[in-house]
Amino acid sequence: MTDLSIRGISKSFDGVDALQDVSLDVADGEFFTLVGPSGCGKTTTLRAIAGFETPDSGSVRFGEREMSGVPPEDRDAGIVFQNYALFSHMTVGENVAYGLRFRETPGEQSKDERVADLLELVDLPGFEERSPDELSGGQRQRVALARALAPGPDVLLLDEPMSALDARLRQNLRTQVKRIQSELGITTVYVTHDQEEALAVSDRVAVMNDGRVEQVGRPEDVYRRPSSRFVAEFLGENNVFAGEVDGDAVRVGEATFRLAGLDAPDGGTVTFCVRPENLVRGPAENGFEATVETVEFLGESFRVHLDWQGRDVTLRVPERPDSERLRVGFSPEDAHVVADGVREREVVGER
Ligand code: ATP
Repeated sequence: MTDLSIRGISKSFDGVDALQDVSLDVADGEFFTLVGPSGCGKTTTLRAIAGFETPDSGSVRFGEREMSGVPPEDRDAGIVFQNYALFSHMTVGENVAYGLRFRETPGEQSKDERVADLLELVDLPGFEERSPDELSGGQRQRVALARALAPGPDVLLLDEPMSALDARLRQNLRTQVKRIQSELGITTVYVTHDQEEALAVSDRVAVMNDGRVEQVGRPEDVYRRPSSRFVAEFLGENNVFAGEVDGDAVRVGEATFRLAGLDAPDGGTVTFCVRPENLVRGPAENGFEATVETVEFLGESFRVHLDWQGRDVTLRVPERPDSERLRVGFSPEDAHVVADGVREREVVGER
């Protein structure tokens, strides 16, 4: 088992900066996820860890081993890609055994025993003789995972392994991947653009934006205390407001909201966010009245889109609203100030 250390890696392709000074530490046995929008540099980071991409600067270390100049096959990393990449002319068992081509089976096991164990681990016992063509997408990805794990790698690298699957299968598979990862205690770096998936399975996440790391932390910490507006809006839904500081309050349009622990100079501009689930109906300390635009039923709650003084505000409530105008509010503790360079008129959702 191994920790990973990535120090100041940068990479550009034809003058375009794909990664800018990315540093990350992944602890031994940790499930660590790189999450961010398309093109933010997740895959390039993973490929640099795997050795498929050589950074222009910076270093990658597996435990004490400095990896520059070490080819992918010598890095002891198991990799699963988005597209199954199984050989269809081989059986499932042969595909898994292919993962052992460069090395002996770990321990005293024969190859066949190792393959049987791995297929058991990924919940496909006795599938050795099947052809990959006879498997569902989720099953094929589990075979790909078994193949990646076959040589007993130090590190597991997963690049959007579920993105080709439908939503329900994805949920199933992510639960299995998480179970297998914690059973093996293998250091894992997972790439996804799906924020819900990232929050669900990870010990920690790194939110990436435009070739940089915006924030690293436990899912609940980055969700509850995003450091920047980008993170606030990327992870889950958020209501973002910007206004002028007045003592311990912020003036937004015609309203004045009090924020807990506000520490900003009078007259300055701050941006803060309030999660839809933290907006409550009825009189609250920071109350305002807004007009219902649309209501969506989500099963466990209703998502209500409100118009407040020309701003989009989203609310999550257990019951369908019974009137066109709603009084909503939030407690000062549920507002969270984020770093933001933009001014109020540019706030997303404003019309
Ligand atoms: P996605 O979720 O769409 O896969 P990503 O976050 O994984 O995106 P990367 O694939 O790492 O992003 O790409 C980061 C940036 O580098 C993008 O602008 C991409 O176009 C560029 N890029 C990546 N690989 C290459 C390459 N081989 N040649 C040129 N540009 C590249």
